[in-house]
Amino acid sequence: MTIHFSCTMCGRCCHGLRLPIGVDEAMAWLRDGGQVQLFCEAIPWPEEPPADNHLAWYKRRRSFAATSGRLPVRVIVSLMAVFEGACPNLQPDMRCGIYERRPRACRVYPAEVNPFYALDRETKLCPPEAWQSVEVLQSEDGNWNDPEVAGAIVGMREADARDAEVKKRVCAILGILSSGLSNEGVVIHAPEPGRFLAALEAAAAGGEGQDVGEWQIVSHRRATLDLLQSAGTASLPSTALAGTASFMGFVAGDA
Ligand code: SF4
Ligand code: SF4
Repeated sequence: MTIHFSCTMCGRCCHGLRLPIGVDEAMAWLRDGGQVQLFCEAIPWPEEPPADNHLAWYKRRRSFAATSGRLPVRVIVSLMAVFEGACPNLQPDMRCGIYERRPRACRVYPAEVNPFYALDRETKLCPPEAWQSVEVLQSEDGNWNDPEVAGAIVGMREADARDAEVKKRVCAILGILSSGLSNEGVVIHAPEPGRFLAALEAAAAGGEGQDVGEWQIVSHRRATLDLLQSAGTASLPSTALAGTASFMGFVAGDA
């Protein structure tokens, strides 16, 4: 189905956001005085998937290898610029104050980065009239029509893959070793911004890959905790999280 779209500059997508950003963008966001958090999730990864499991390989590209007890896992760390209310870069006339260097995610919206997600207008913040444009956002064959949108999508996917090992080093520097279980929840880490920026700069500078140690998989569901324990995984109830870590579940919890 061809999807028509034109931004009305309503500004809704610039309010109350968790904006996924790359390592380079996170450093810029922190230098500008913004807040960034790490959303961590782990996927059990007992063996490599078959070559035709494209979804698994997509996840593999944006994750790093780790262990939790006896279980090999892959950890996806998403860097999120967070703000309540209006984005600190949003101008009173609803224009972006850093338009030329705004994050790739801002250039993509409302298109989808994940090739396994179809664009669902119902989940987007854009007003109805934005979808009544004559301009084509996505053509019948699934291609993104706007070169800037298409380029930003490629840029986000490349950054995801490029950043995975850098994020591993960031976690090692910051001592981050807890994650949610993929599709069930994430552990959100909110390091102090100055310390976080220093860790990102050190990790981005490269060097030897550091062993991040053993990861704990956090859950808010009794059945999951029991399953993780029986699989020899290092697990933790979400209520035991401390410090600057918190848990966000995607399903109802009972533990
Ligand atoms: S950086 Fe600009 S485009 Fe992105 S959310 Fe903020 S104001 Fe909106
Ligand atoms: S919510 Fe949609 S229409 Fe409104 S500013 Fe964002 S992209 Fe444009």
